[in-house]
Amino acid sequence: MDEIVKYPDVFLRHKSKEVEFPLDDKTERLIKWMIKQMYKNYGIGLAAIQVGYERRIFVMDSTRAGQSPEVFINPVIVGHSDESLTDFEGCLSAPGKRGEVRRYLRIILKYQDEKGEKHTKTFYNLAARCVQHEMDHLEGKLCIDYEKGEYSRDKHKSQTMVESDFRAKSDT
Ligand SMILES: [Zn+2]
Repeated sequence: MDEIVKYPDVFLRHKSKEVEFPLDDKTERLIKWMIKQMYKNYGIGLAAIQVGYERRIFVMDSTRAGQSPEVFINPVIVGHSDESLTDFEGCLSAPGKRGEVRRYLRIILKYQDEKGEKHTKTFYNLAARCVQHEMDHLEGKLCIDYEKGEYSRDKHKSQTMVESDFRAKSDT
């Protein structure tokens, strides 16, 4: 069975919801599952919406080492560099496709960890790009919606959408 929600599933367009603390068992299991899926699929980041849960959570390991997964809950970008760079991005939810996306080179992220503790952290280059990519997932955006670096509403609207079984998973 395919465990990652794939484009053109309309579920990926949902806006994810805030997570409440303390985390319940289900959410703790979800986070472990997300880390497992990220490594299994050779991704450097994965958002909860990609495994069927519309929660404001993403996991990341931009070192690709497979040993230091980080968990970000209720993340918010609170600052960024002036400089940005346009580059191609792929997504586990859109295999075989890529988007040309302009991202800030440095971003400052506020988030909570699994215990609900608040953190503020600065990310650079690939990690900054990955965070911005995952933040898009939380808003129902995909890297393939971008055109020549910029987010394109027209491109998004012209894309096909289908519904799948993943739809109801969050509410069970
Ligand atoms: Zn993605």
